[in-house]
Amino acid sequence: MPPINPVQLRQYLEFYQDLGVKSLYRRAAPQLVQVTPVQEAPTVQNATPIMELPPLAPSGDTLLQIIQDMGDCRRCKLHEARNKIVFGTGAEKAPLVFVGEGPGADEDEQGLPFVGRAGQLLTQMIEGTAKKEGIALKRADVYIANVVKCRPPGNRTPEPDEMEICGEFLYRQLSVIQPKAICALGGTAAKAITGHKEGVTKMRGKWFKLRDIPVMVTYHPSYLLRPYNEAAKREAWEDLKKVLHFVYD
Ligand code: URA
Repeated sequence: MPPINPVQLRQYLEFYQDLGVKSLYRRAAPQLVQVTPVQEAPTVQNATPIMELPPLAPSGDTLLQIIQDMGDCRRCKLHEARNKIVFGTGAEKAPLVFVGEGPGADEDEQGLPFVGRAGQLLTQMIEGTAKKEGIALKRADVYIANVVKCRPPGNRTPEPDEMEICGEFLYRQLSVIQPKAICALGGTAAKAITGHKEGVTKMRGKWFKLRDIPVMVTYHPSYLLRPYNEAAKREAWEDLKKVLHFVYD
């Protein structure tokens, strides 16, 4: 990678900042590049000035290119227990993207997002709500991905370093797809995408932004599967109606 100038460096850092990324990691065998410390970029100034910045959203980027760049990813510890990388699925130019937290056991087995019980509920929610609202929409018409692409052991919440590392790829996916809106499913996705720290109950039903893309926050389908969550289910349906009308009207 050739040396980059302060303007390019600032652009890189702003990309990461938008995603809530606060640290940059070196690759296993970094090709060291001398970067001039920049006045306006204190995070880099305080860190080592010798680093390689991973390319973020290269021009002409595609989903296939991102898959190739991820390769047999071992950038974080989640690779140790995973079976399959769960990249994401749906139309490359989908106007609506749903982002969950991370793959569960079924997703890890099949390499596809939201295929277990929570996934079946998500499909029902998307297709059922669209139908009731007179919108012709199938699950395959939207794009579905997760904040992390490998299953966290025991379905634990992904850790900050894992989300930061994987965030590079999610951000590139979103840059390629350029959806009209994103729907963040649950608190982890909501925080990762919007950078806001409130709980999902406070954030749901409201619009946030990732760069210029409107982001609607709602409950995670796994939460809705639990008994006694009838009120939350009704709220999630309301949130979904909002986002579907915004995107497809
Ligand atoms: N939960 C998620 O957050 N993502 C999936 O893909 C499946 C379950």
